[in-house]
Amino acid sequence: MPSNVKKNLNAVQKQIDQAAERSGRSPAEIKLVAVSKTYGAETIRTAVKAGQRAFGENKIQEAESKIGELGYDGYEWHLIGHLQKNKARKAVQLFDMIHSVDSPELALRLDKLCAEEGRKNLKVLVQVDLAGESSKSGIAETDLQMLVESLKRCENLSFEGLMLLPPFFDDAEEARPYFQRLREIRDRLAGEAVFANGFGHLSMGMSHDLEIAIEEGATIVRIGTAIFGERN
Ligand SMILES: *Cc1c(COP(=O)(O)O)cnc(C)c1O
Repeated sequence: MPSNVKKNLNAVQKQIDQAAERSGRSPAEIKLVAVSKTYGAETIRTAVKAGQRAFGENKIQEAESKIGELGYDGYEWHLIGHLQKNKARKAVQLFDMIHSVDSPELALRLDKLCAEEGRKNLKVLVQVDLAGESSKSGIAETDLQMLVESLKRCENLSFEGLMLLPPFFDDAEEARPYFQRLREIRDRLAGEAVFANGFGHLSMGMSHDLEIAIEEGATIVRIGTAIFGERN
């Protein structure tokens, strides 16, 4: 089990605070999701003791066992990985927010399952693929409007913003144009009043590029390695 979780969390929070202040933003408007994939319930408890609340998981089965053990009292669970349609019901049952909606079919299916499961206002983000990386999940920018139109018909989903997983660059600066582009798209959609929360979240920024993401407007950062250490 990683031993420095508390110290690492403090260091990440400080990085967030400083990046926010540098760009004239309030640190309070940036939410830290600790990405706990591959780490067990004990490690997550350590983070909670240090004041962390929101956790990100990328696999349904792995998340199900951890959430089964830890529950929801003091915990908030985010699905950040690709969601297959056949696992959508489990996702509706388990998560507080789904960051990876990437097709009209998935959105409509989630909406229908929410109705069946008696779930209201399931928070969702749309994952956008700005680099045309067909191997990754995310909807192409050219198809985004169609998905937004579908979401308008989803009465049980609360459409709260956009998510981005940019290509990996050794030099995080190279990710900046992708963050800027996502923000432009978010601003345009906010102008069309499509977001349930009004402003529209920008879920972007990971361990190696969180400062740049915050400078470009991130409101949710998803941080694993910098908190829990390198994954195996
Ligand atoms: C693993 C993962 C993260 C966290 O990455 P780190 O580099 O460990 O901070 C963030 N977002 C997604 C979608 C991930 O799969």
